Amino acid sequence: MKSIDLDDLLHNIERPARYTGGETHARLKRFDAAQVRIALAFPDVYEVGMSHLGLRILYHLLNAMEGVMADRAYTPWPDFEKRLRKTRTPLYGLESRRPLNRFDLVGFSLQYELSYTNVLTMLDLGGIPLRSAERGDGDPFVIAGGPCAFNPEPLAPFLDLVILGEAEEALKELVESLRLWKEAGASRSEFLEAARKVPGVYVPAFFTPRYDAEGRLRAVEPRYADYPNVRKRLVTDLDRVSPLPSHPLVPLVDIVHNRLGLEIARGCTRGCRFCQAGYIYRPVRERDPKEVFHKALTAIDTSGFEEISLLSLSTGDYCQVAPLLKALMEAVAPRKVAVSLPSMRVGTLTQELMEQIRKVRKTGFTVAPEAGSERLRRVINKNISDADLITTARDAYHLGWNLMKLYFMMGLPTETREDLDALADLSLEVWKAGKARKAKVNVSVSTFVPKPTTPFQWVGQIPREEIRERLTYLKERLKKPGVRLKWHDPDQSFLEAVFARGDRRLAHVIQDAWHRGARFDGWGEWLRMEVWEEAFRRAGIDPSRWAQRAFEENDVLPWDHLSAGLDKAFLWKEYEKARAEEPTGDCRWERCSRCGVCDHKVVEPRLHREEPTLNPPEGASSAPGPQALRTYRFRYAKRGPARFLGQLEVGRLFERAIRRSRLPVVFSRGFHPHPKVSFSEALPLGMESEAEEGTLQMERALSPDQIRESLNRELPEGLQVLDVLEAQPGKHPPRERVITYRVSHLTPSQVDCIMAIWRTRPRLRLIKKTKRGQVEAPLDEVVQSLERVNPSAVLIRLVDRPGWHFRPQAVLEQLMADSEPISDTARVCKLSADPLES
Ligand code: SF4
Repeated sequence: MKSIDLDDLLHNIERPARYTGGETHARLKRFDAAQVRIALAFPDVYEVGMSHLGLRILYHLLNAMEGVMADRAYTPWPDFEKRLRKTRTPLYGLESRRPLNRFDLVGFSLQYELSYTNVLTMLDLGGIPLRSAERGDGDPFVIAGGPCAFNPEPLAPFLDLVILGEAEEALKELVESLRLWKEAGASRSEFLEAARKVPGVYVPAFFTPRYDAEGRLRAVEPRYADYPNVRKRLVTDLDRVSPLPSHPLVPLVDIVHNRLGLEIARGCTRGCRFCQAGYIYRPVRERDPKEVFHKALTAIDTSGFEEISLLSLSTGDYCQVAPLLKALMEAVAPRKVAVSLPSMRVGTLTQELMEQIRKVRKTGFTVAPEAGSERLRRVINKNISDADLITTARDAYHLGWNLMKLYFMMGLPTETREDLDALADLSLEVWKAGKARKAKVNVSVSTFVPKPTTPFQWVGQIPREEIRERLTYLKERLKKPGVRLKWHDPDQSFLEAVFARGDRRLAHVIQDAWHRGARFDGWGEWLRMEVWEEAFRRAGIDPSRWAQRAFEENDVLPWDHLSAGLDKAFLWKEYEKARAEEPTGDCRWERCSRCGVCDHKVVEPRLHREEPTLNPPEGASSAPGPQALRTYRFRYAKRGPARFLGQLEVGRLFERAIRRSRLPVVFSRGFHPHPKVSFSEALPLGMESEAEEGTLQMERALSPDQIRESLNRELPEGLQVLDVLEAQPGKHPPRERVITYRVSHLTPSQVDCIMAIWRTRPRLRLIKKTKRGQVEAPLDEVVQSLERVNPSAVLIRLVDRPGWHFRPQAVLEQLMADSEPISDTARVCKLSADPLES
């Protein structure tokens, strides 16, 4: 089976490197030799999907299995979707470049409801029938996991399987079943039969919803008596079962979280009653701080990331956060690597922690009170006082922060106008606390979305008109020069609620909306609400009913047959406590509130209460000081897939290669030190080159060969250092050069036309439009020579000087004024820039 050729496909596509694969530490296992092939699919754009930690963990875990190859796929941005459709190219796995329909399993990570239409886009582009019932022998099994798996019903007809909870062990067991099933050559339904025996695996086809005459859900009936419901899987020992990758994927393009993300714990039992993650990932399981520490140091070596981010639902609650942070900072600071804690909670932020965080981040300090008044915070069980919040803000200002980011939710159960006033008052108090320091406050307000398996699953969302009215009120109240209000689109929150609480009857609405062009609904610029409204109308469904409906205690909920391990009675009790404004303590520090997840034998909270000794390995933190600074100039090639990298991306890849190589490079000063490397010019996207140039500053003299070889060991495919020269002080590269390009993939008649004009009209005036106006010059002053190298390629030498830079395609297009443009088809390679002086 041939792999897909990207050359024509990526021409003039926005951020083409999203679609090339080839990241550092990407696993290139042989597709044809693998017994089981899995495509891990993320229904959003590369930059979002590549930032997702869970998918990266599974990618490494599956590829470590003998005979198994795991590949990745992300949703193509609409321009690339169009290109794939136009060229009839199927969506492919990034490493193998094989169509999705050639894999055995295609697994989607469902992180948010507004990615559902992207699932359909990927299935369709991958050549996989949309509905499970339409798939036959030879089609992959489509599987989903992630938080939305706790109510996958609106997507159920499109899915063959769903994993509830943490996938590490369940997916491995499923892969083993699949291997046996393939060897046995059994039927598709026989695999589903085997799959239902894997704990945590839900087969939607084995359950049938039953509705009453009014359209209310009465039951979700199981086909098998021994398979009446499905309970989530969870990993009890994260260090053993789900080790942190020592060779993490390093993206080629800038992604949302472009840093080394290290999961330090899973689960949070603070018990915020709106927070689905706080319920579905129970109990808290902390990783061993020693393991985190050593893995962090290894992964920094192998990845070259410049920042480590310690991740969990509430990082400040990790028992050993302070010693871990301190030890990590001491170990990596000499290598100019920063450590950050993205999710902190007021009350866990000690002065010591804030001092540590301040060392690397002073741009914005984030606090999430969620509700404006203390009363409403009692309802949601987020028991933070206004006084604590103001004190935290004062401490942050005192330590030098000048931007506070406050996160609130609007429309929470029992919210009144007084609560909104309190939200505004609190924001203004925080602003006033920093006014003397000219601090600014960003207030972000999202709308409450009732989520399954939380105490608020029975509550309806407030109507959209009400959301808009409350937002207008807040906008008025927060009109202050130093306060900026940001809000979440009410239409998106509304759709999120519809699909979070919906059942299988919504599947055809999703399919219809997708068919009519709904894509990337989570992206404000792509959401087309009129398409959704039309789809609901055609299905005879009033979506408001689904978003706003309040369920009764004994109502059948669409997700009742799927369990996160929580007792429904516990959730209801929590709902009642919310209405009574009663707190529930955190079972890490207070008594167990019997939510139902733990058996207190195998499953129980796992905390590391003892302070560890964290010593970096010998030499890990030693960094020799500068001796006699040396500057080196280097020439490098940009070929093959690397031609789809922009200059910023190339710069970042060089910086990380330099970090991985451990060359004694000089770093810039400031909060975010970077290796001192610079590049002479930006090559247009899509152009190859054998003659790019850069400069590198070293702390001491090194042999040029050592620099070249060290960098080449670390650079990704397509980037190669060709030669290195030590720069002579005071000697600068020439400002005027002759640049030679080879332009190929022309038609013979285009080449004939170009050569004829070159011979007959040497004084033809070339025009170049720039931001500062128009540059005009005669052809023979711009072009030093032009030759035909073969019937479809020419060699062109262009004079280049400051303010006088002509691109080869543009010059050739002016030579063939009436002919078709060549920009979309021609291939350009920059061969040399003469003279190259040392
Ligand atoms: S069962 Fe108890 S200890 Fe376990 S997560 Fe629930 S409340 Fe905490």
